[in-house]
Amino acid sequence: MTEEAPLLVIVSGPGGVGKSTVVQALVARYPELWLSRSWTTRSQRPGEPDDAYIFVTRQEFVDRIEADGFLEHAEFLGNYYGTPTLGATGGRDVILEIDVQGARQVLAKEPDAFLIFLQAPSEEEQFARLRRRGDPEAKVEQRVAKAAEEATAGKELDAHIITNYDIDETVAEMFAAIQRFRVATGRHQHSGHADAVDG
Ligand code: 5GP
Repeated sequence: MTEEAPLLVIVSGPGGVGKSTVVQALVARYPELWLSRSWTTRSQRPGEPDDAYIFVTRQEFVDRIEADGFLEHAEFLGNYYGTPTLGATGGRDVILEIDVQGARQVLAKEPDAFLIFLQAPSEEEQFARLRRRGDPEAKVEQRVAKAAEEATAGKELDAHIITNYDIDETVAEMFAAIQRFRVATGRHQHSGHADAVDG
């Protein structure tokens, strides 16, 4: 049997909705999904895992742009973030956790990608999360303003919108949405975990 081309799943949404927590839980639960690791020029936050990103200098980032080494890249609050060009994924579907600008670029290049847009149950909780992150206060204010802007921009994209009330429920809903998208686009379903998908 020949291997199907992997599905590209973009997970986007404004800062503070819990995107990275949710995608970590998603790939931990479903080994058939592979999480792309981004490059960034931002500094590592206190307590942030070393493998959250590939942390690089601006020069290293620019060199990689020039070598055409990114599927997409964007500037977010003064730092560069980018998805390295995808290599082999061993048949696993690819999860990209990226901002709205990046989502637009990927959809322009790969119209068959599936976009999931996460939103917060309330702005209060979302902004509180941004404040707990360990960024300097000036950065926090910028992130709050940016998050409000991204929530509006994201709603214009034709995304599958999920409100992140509860991590486990969100993860199950994302996997079910990916399964439905696979079927709707004529791909095979993942076998998944029996407890997460009905039917
Ligand atoms: P943070 O600094 O909070 O880790 O990330 C800031 C924003 O950049 C978030 O919206 C995050 O999803 C986004 N981001 C992370 N990696 C990438 C990437 O490779 N490309 C783009 N366009 N955005 C990214």
